[in-house]
Amino acid sequence: MQITEIYKSIQGESTHAGLPCVFVRLTGCNLRCSWCDSEYTFSGGHRQTVEEVVAEVERLSPGAGLVEITGGEPLLQDRAVVPLMQRLLDADYTVLLETSGERPLGRVPPGVIKIVDVKCPNSGEPDTFRIENLDALTPRDEVKFVLSDRCDYEFARDFVAQHRLDQRVHAVLFSPAFSKEAGGARDASCCLLDPRELAEWMLADEVPARLGLQIHKFVWDPAMRGV
Ligand code: SF4
Repeated sequence: MQITEIYKSIQGESTHAGLPCVFVRLTGCNLRCSWCDSEYTFSGGHRQTVEEVVAEVERLSPGAGLVEITGGEPLLQDRAVVPLMQRLLDADYTVLLETSGERPLGRVPPGVIKIVDVKCPNSGEPDTFRIENLDALTPRDEVKFVLSDRCDYEFARDFVAQHRLDQRVHAVLFSPAFSKEAGGARDASCCLLDPRELAEWMLADEVPARLGLQIHKFVWDPAMRGV
């Protein structure tokens, strides 16, 4: 499979946020989100076999732990990624899969925790979520909405209600998009949508979701690689 990087860092944006995690970042994406923070994955990378990736994960996190399969869009390489996830599960890793929800989820091994990103109107990639994927979600999965304004928020709020998402999955996450230009001192002003404003909307509407902040963006310069 084509790999951009494998590294150990802190999981930044799910109910596992804050935990040490090995990231396997695959090359290539078929979407072009306006706020994408991983455009460097769109091309390049290097080829590695499933065995080589498993060996690197074991070197970085011996004796199991948390592993996130991400990209880019990892399911573009599902013929290699599905066996990789199964190998990691068999070795007792907790496996997270970060995916846009545009690719079919049916072949993802049941033990994997899927973190599915439903694209909102201002992402530049609206209407890309494959609606049949709702049936592939399990009570261990998480669904994430990255929001940049009130229009995105209302879309997410209504999508959650229409599909009763909170009753299908472990967590629904509303996360303000982070500015691609942010550098130097980083704080809530780097978010495209003020987290305080988002929190107030969520409370007013009693949305059954949790507010998420991309904590790795506050810890490290967003332009840094391998963190
Ligand atoms: S799906 Fe993910 S990797 Fe692809 S463009 Fe959107 S944010 Fe970037």
